[in-house]
Amino acid sequence: MSAPLFENTLRASRAFDLVSKDMALGLGHAYMVVSPDDEIVKEFFTLVAAKMYCASGRACMECRECRTVIDGNNPDLFLINPQGEKIKVQEVKDMISSVSIRPLGKVKAYFVCRADLMTPDAQNKLLKTLEEPPSDVVIFLGAGSEAGVLDTVKSRCRKVYIDVFDRETVYNALKELGCRDEDAAIAAACCEGQLGKARVIAFSPEYGERYSDALTLLEKLRRSRDVLDAEGVPSLKTDEGEFLKVLSVALRDVISAKEGAPLFFGAETVSRLENIAKGFSLRALALSLEAVARAQEKLSYSVNAAAVEDSLLFEILEVKHKWQ
Ligand SMILES: [Zn+2]
Repeated sequence: MSAPLFENTLRASRAFDLVSKDMALGLGHAYMVVSPDDEIVKEFFTLVAAKMYCASGRACMECRECRTVIDGNNPDLFLINPQGEKIKVQEVKDMISSVSIRPLGKVKAYFVCRADLMTPDAQNKLLKTLEEPPSDVVIFLGAGSEAGVLDTVKSRCRKVYIDVFDRETVYNALKELGCRDEDAAIAAACCEGQLGKARVIAFSPEYGERYSDALTLLEKLRRSRDVLDAEGVPSLKTDEGEFLKVLSVALRDVISAKEGAPLFFGAETVSRLENIAKGFSLRALALSLEAVARAQEKLSYSVNAAAVEDSLLFEILEVKHKWQ
């Protein structure tokens, strides 16, 4: 395990509050921690483990017990499948046989990453342990989604959903990591509320370019003869799918600018958003967003990408003029 980067944000999350309250009353035997954000599930596991073993019970991250958790030297603590790969039946068998060995301290804890990638066979093997776990064992199963987990396994676990964090929370968390304003703002906008994804975006320069290209495209769309010019923005040519995601984020930001909602960008980007907002009615922006969603769907059927882009740009232009 490693020290959680988003420690403060996770501490304040509803998910951590739920587990902390359980800890005060006595932890259950099995939990399923659900989030599409693998990195944040791992960070959550570290924080929970630290709290379980911390000398002061606060997950202080500094006492000897907390250090032992972070360094992976606590013999009662097992982190399984940290790479988040498909879990083999043998790994589950090993885990099951180790569960019955008494802990050295008071309690043993198992943290399984991406348990939803276990085969049904492996999950069935684990089921018996979840049904009758020894009293001094707690099992945490991480899952990218509930869909991959058998109902019988799910029903044995208390579910913990990692929060979808709002934009301001993500922005502030990234700033705490020393991220630049503009990068943090773009990552907070594009991460769908997931901190791990936000961190990746914040440190990938191409997202900043994509976002700027999305604004350029909206700036250029004035007349139909501008469509060709707008199609020339570099990001549209390199990765249509990712670009359309960012375009829909940018359109939402234009709506926010129009409505005077808070934007976390620097002055230059805010002024670009406000200028674009002047050229579109709210109705036109909402319809443009729908058009982007339809284009994303068409791309997922691998319809000719250039044709999809073409009709999308004409559609945005059309609603822009029709709904002034
Ligand atoms: Zn501690």
